[in-house]
Amino acid sequence: MNIAIDGPAGAGKSTIAKRLSGELGFLYLDTGAMYRAVALAMLGKNVPADNESEVAKVLETADIDIRYENGKQKVFLGGEDVSERIREHSVSKAASDFSALPCVRLKMVELQREIAGKTDTILDGRDIGTYVLPKAEIKFFLTASVEERARRRYAELKEKGADCTLDGIRKDIETRDYNDSHRAFAPLKKADDAVEIDTTGMSIDEVAKFMLGIVNGKLK
Ligand code: C5P
Repeated sequence: MNIAIDGPAGAGKSTIAKRLSGELGFLYLDTGAMYRAVALAMLGKNVPADNESEVAKVLETADIDIRYENGKQKVFLGGEDVSERIREHSVSKAASDFSALPCVRLKMVELQREIAGKTDTILDGRDIGTYVLPKAEIKFFLTASVEERARRRYAELKEKGADCTLDGIRKDIETRDYNDSHRAFAPLKKADDAVEIDTTGMSIDEVAKFMLGIVNGKLK
């Protein structure tokens, strides 16, 4: 069984997906981490996102690997664990730019389908329900107001000691949302058969409980 969780940046997808994967015993695949790894690879080689042929060339030899250690997803680039580095603020914006390129998406989607095809998996991203796994048994689309999403992301980054402002984070989220939902290839979009949940003002527990109710109803 596959569960797709899509939605804009900061809607709480990964927190919820981790929680559900623990409760249900499903593998959790954070697909955003894969696009972040691509961005890191390109930044490291100074390849601009508007040079798709160069991106495709670098991508051919980029050694991006997803591994699980004690059930936790780790991302490796060229054999180095970059799971923390891909969370840096500069990588978020670059991930949105590089993920718009078809050559990048085709390669990542192939890997995502391969992983999800092997075992029960919860995937979070932007296009899981619409493009990666249109036949996923359960689809959710999580949203929240941009103010709330910015506040959540700001708190998360501040806790890690990042130097950022709430206003800067809100602007970045708005730019990413715009880019992600306006790209030509597999944009951020709610699948027609996805359950939409506006998590503004809801706690993680409330959202998780609601989603688990739907999943358990399907599993019966
Ligand atoms: O989910 P996260 O914020 O880590 O994703 C980083 C970026 O990767 C997003 O802004 C989006 O551009 C891209 N992404 C995507 N498709 C996915 C997951 C992420 O385009 N399935």
